[in-house]
Amino acid sequence: MPTGKEKTGARRVVIVEDEPDVARTIEHVLADFAFDTSWCRTGGELLRRLRGLAPDLCIIDLGLPDMDGLELMRRLRSQCPCGILILTGRSHVSDRVMGLELGADDYVVKPFEPRELVARVRSILRRREEASGHQGQVAVFGEWRFNPRNNALRGPGGGEEILSTAEGELLQVFLRNPSRILNREQLMGSRDVSPTDRAIDVRISRLRKRLEPQESSPALIKTVYGAGYLFLAQVRWDDSP
Ligand code: CA
Repeated sequence: MPTGKEKTGARRVVIVEDEPDVARTIEHVLADFAFDTSWCRTGGELLRRLRGLAPDLCIIDLGLPDMDGLELMRRLRSQCPCGILILTGRSHVSDRVMGLELGADDYVVKPFEPRELVARVRSILRRREEASGHQGQVAVFGEWRFNPRNNALRGPGGGEEILSTAEGELLQVFLRNPSRILNREQLMGSRDVSPTDRAIDVRISRLRKRLEPQESSPALIKTVYGAGYLFLAQVRWDDSP
């Protein structure tokens, strides 16, 4: 996947949804807002066409005929740094939390208000663009390197993982403010969600899983009870090779 492509034209949103009526509704409303849309009926179709489609964002229905939506998300996340919005008919909180844990940026519950969906899509894309605004620099902390341009995190062993948009944004807030107590609002950044939303805890927990060898006694991301979180690392910003 090209990750550093220059975006000049319309943003491309791929809708992965087996119900034609729902897909059509989403395509229409996104087209009204000048998005370029494509429709995949199945998870398999998305994965087959992914390289050619090069989406900026995928809207994924969790109830797909061929594949569990959460499994699809996991595979998509490992192959593409695009934004992910979950669409779910299930009202269970656990599915949504699981989706966020697996790297979704946000979710919308069916039935949805089309304009609300567009607002979520725009918010995710805006955050991605803000996060990529620090061109050409990578953060080096401990044995880690993080490139905000493509959300690539390289670990001590040399392996590279692509973080979700929201996770990358959260890590970047920490990296720009090391050794400072950050409250929930500061950590949410530009996210349009309530500071009491569980999403922030889910993301902190995901970052810890990636960064902390001992999750039970985190050394990098410290909880400061009643105040917020503290990122304890020396951070250096290098020009990207
Ligand atoms: Ca469905």
